[in-house]
Amino acid sequence: MPKIIHYRNKCIGCNICYESQPEYWRLSRKDGKATLIGAKLKKETYILEIPECDVEASKTTAEHCPTKVIKVSV
Ligand code: SF4
Repeated sequence: MPKIIHYRNKCIGCNICYESQPEYWRLSRKDGKATLIGAKLKKETYILEIPECDVEASKTTAEHCPTKVIKVSV
């Protein structure tokens, strides 16, 4: 199953991921960083399984992240 991986520690909260895929991302009011909705925390990274049909859009989101803290694994 494809996955989005978010290295949240280095997120700068620019909100581009939310603008690109609001169904997957929210900006946290607590610390101003992006949160990958429904993701599980594993060794300081957040991981969310996604359907195949969302892979291309997720890759585009990852490309637009200025700090490159979003990865898509297929
Ligand atoms: S695009 Fe990247 S740096 Fe910007 S809020 Fe999203 S994860 Fe954080």
